[in-house]
Amino acid sequence: MPVKDKFLNPEDKSYKPSRHPEHLVVVEREATIRYKKSYGGMSLYFQGIMEKENAVLRYTVCSNQDGHDEPRVLRFQVPRMDCPECYEKTAWESLPGETRFTVETKSTAVNLAGISFMDQLPVTVAWVQAVPPDGTALDTLTAGMVSLEDYNTLVKGDELRPVFRKAPRASASDVMWVRKGTPVRDLPEDYILSKRYKI
Ligand SMILES: [Zn+2]
Repeated sequence: MPVKDKFLNPEDKSYKPSRHPEHLVVVEREATIRYKKSYGGMSLYFQGIMEKENAVLRYTVCSNQDGHDEPRVLRFQVPRMDCPECYEKTAWESLPGETRFTVETKSTAVNLAGISFMDQLPVTVAWVQAVPPDGTALDTLTAGMVSLEDYNTLVKGDELRPVFRKAPRASASDVMWVRKGTPVRDLPEDYILSKRYKI
């Protein structure tokens, strides 16, 4: 693990808890950790959003109706390997292009984010509801990254469309969301349309 230390300015508040800060040395340590992260059973979702112009959004389904509080099929838009109600294994499905995606609510814009989004602060997220052509909304919402400009004007019920990173990084940010009808020239930089989800 590469480590770089730098003497920390004695004015820094980190010295304050000491009764004798003048006899204390504090360094600022910068460390880089490289490791191999596996998406495990969620890999199919990431493979889908990494397919650029052929990208696909996958979700999971639990058909074990009798194991649910309400006896019906449950569908999870953020895929879940195990059903949170009955703990059975779920099955994978794909969202067709005719799926309607709408804003349900927005998250507070945050300036602190996971590593996938560190170069895209502030992170502006809309919670997206998907209604496949069968007309029944999926049972969970997905957190969709939107541009700051869109974030400031989106309201509940506005329609969104997914766009995908031209050079995928195998990160959740390989998919972003834009207003339905956004001209192709105005898509976020480095993102393209999938043939499956027209704008
Ligand atoms: Zn279940």
